[in-house]
Amino acid sequence: MIAPLRYTVVPERPEAHLYRVCCTVADPDPSGLEFALPAWIPGSYMIREFARHVVSIRAESRGKPVAIEKTDKQSWRAEACAGPLTVICEVYARDLSVRGAYLDTRHAFFNGACLFLLPKGHESAPCELEIARPRGARYRNWIVATAMDRAGAKPRGFGTYRAASYDELIDHPAAMGELALARFRACGVPHEIAIAGRHRADLPRLARDLKRVCEQHIRFFGEPAPMRRYLFLVTALGEGYGGLEHRASTALLCSREDLPVRSDAKVGERYRTFLGLASHEYFHTWNVKRIKPAAFTPYDLDREGYTSLLWAFEGITSYYDDLALLRSGLIEKKDYLELLGRSITSYLRAPGRARQTLAEASFDAWIKYYRPDENSPNATVSYYGKGSLVALCLDLLIREKTRGRKSLDDLMRALWRRHGLTGTGVEEDGVERLAEEITGLSLRKTFDDWLRSTRELPLDKLLETHGVEMILRPSESSSDRGGKPASSKASGGLAMLGAQARADADQTILTHVLDGGAAREAGLAAGDAVVAVDGLRPGRGGLDAALARRRAGETVKLHAFRRDELLEFEVRLKAAPADTCVLSELSGPRARALERWLGISHG
Ligand SMILES: [Zn+2]
Repeated sequence: MIAPLRYTVVPERPEAHLYRVCCTVADPDPSGLEFALPAWIPGSYMIREFARHVVSIRAESRGKPVAIEKTDKQSWRAEACAGPLTVICEVYARDLSVRGAYLDTRHAFFNGACLFLLPKGHESAPCELEIARPRGARYRNWIVATAMDRAGAKPRGFGTYRAASYDELIDHPAAMGELALARFRACGVPHEIAIAGRHRADLPRLARDLKRVCEQHIRFFGEPAPMRRYLFLVTALGEGYGGLEHRASTALLCSREDLPVRSDAKVGERYRTFLGLASHEYFHTWNVKRIKPAAFTPYDLDREGYTSLLWAFEGITSYYDDLALLRSGLIEKKDYLELLGRSITSYLRAPGRARQTLAEASFDAWIKYYRPDENSPNATVSYYGKGSLVALCLDLLIREKTRGRKSLDDLMRALWRRHGLTGTGVEEDGVERLAEEITGLSLRKTFDDWLRSTRELPLDKLLETHGVEMILRPSESSSDRGGKPASSKASGGLAMLGAQARADADQTILTHVLDGGAAREAGLAAGDAVVAVDGLRPGRGGLDAALARRRAGETVKLHAFRRDELLEFEVRLKAAPADTCVLSELSGPRARALERWLGISHG
């Protein structure tokens, strides 16, 4: 029997964003003990060095101080003592993201990776966590929301919780505050939604709709669900978007405008975004939390964990997040085809897809996807975006080649049985081998093309085999995200600058200059502040409005500041390329194949 690690988290000075966190080891190594904080948090592949928020640290044993010294940026070593040994630190928490820790007088949220020191060698020890209520009358009505097992705490109460190991301890984020709650059961499993922040969401509606999404995913992989309970931890803000998956919960950040209100009859575009995010993180309960790359089995939180498989964990999950909204009846076929058209559009607009392969995008997530800069669209491809389109192509290809006997759904269920249920990590070639095994197809060349080359994906051909026509048209404006037919008949030649920009007071800053575009050829650069177009300051409509009535082939004079130097550019505008995707249903013999793929067949 290993002695449990005892942790305490006290929101000690909410107004200063300071937690006090203690870790007690009953039987420390007689030669001294090393403690470390994770450098990254599973699900978000970037070195974050959480130890930088540790403000102070000390150690004690039986009331007497024990020397503790720092040994590297995230580790400390406590001197030998007979035990028990307690390390106490103050941690600054003002990161209002799903990956961090936050504390103020209104609400608190934490990921264990930000707060809990791991005593080295005690990775598999069970953990007890006491969550204390902040002191003062204003915190009287605060409650706690976490999916961690209770060990004395009342439901949603402050008190003691437990986890089987450190890995589990840091996989149950917690929120505290005056949270709004809603509950439902999905396939018999209790689910809860806890919302922090001001909002006027229709909670019964939210519970009803999320129940449909959850049941769709549980039935997809097969009952019983792998978790005993599940928690959606939502923070509603004015603007915000983000999600992070955990084994029995997810942390979501959204705009309060994305939540449904009582008067909404349909699923509008903003609510659809929220449901898509919730669906995505919920699918991860299987795909990445339990079906995991071997590189993450176990996680090494001291340094980067390299894998070329993120396309399968993020891309396939992105493919099923919206598809599940359709299969559960929350959106309609035309909505789904619009969303898919938009994904294809955003993929086609990034010149970087000709530079970086999907496998490289995954491997380099640590230094590229998570650290984007002004050149990212020219140099990188998203393993979410392209990954979801490879999942689509793989699904349609398997369905076509096996005459509908097999699909990507079968591959996911096979991954679940072989890896999810057994806890065996997926080797780097594991998804490809299993795909060949369960379909009987030879897919080596296909995977080489789609994962390890920058060749174009055969989207149009594969969609056609399932009764969907793919049309590409020029963009109509910078707000044209695709998915819908052209709105004007005479869009013969929208003039394009080939740059992305943001308005900033009286100027327009170029954020990205795209390879092959007119701005690039004229010598404009990211960071240039455009102050005049043909001698006139762009108005509130920015560059879009200033160029709206120009034709391709026309030359315009742009004045821009680069740092503090005013420069002049002659820009020959180019015609918008046909990179905007519209999908529509073809009538005819393939309608059955379409219905089977989308899972909405009533026959
Ligand atoms: Zn994801």
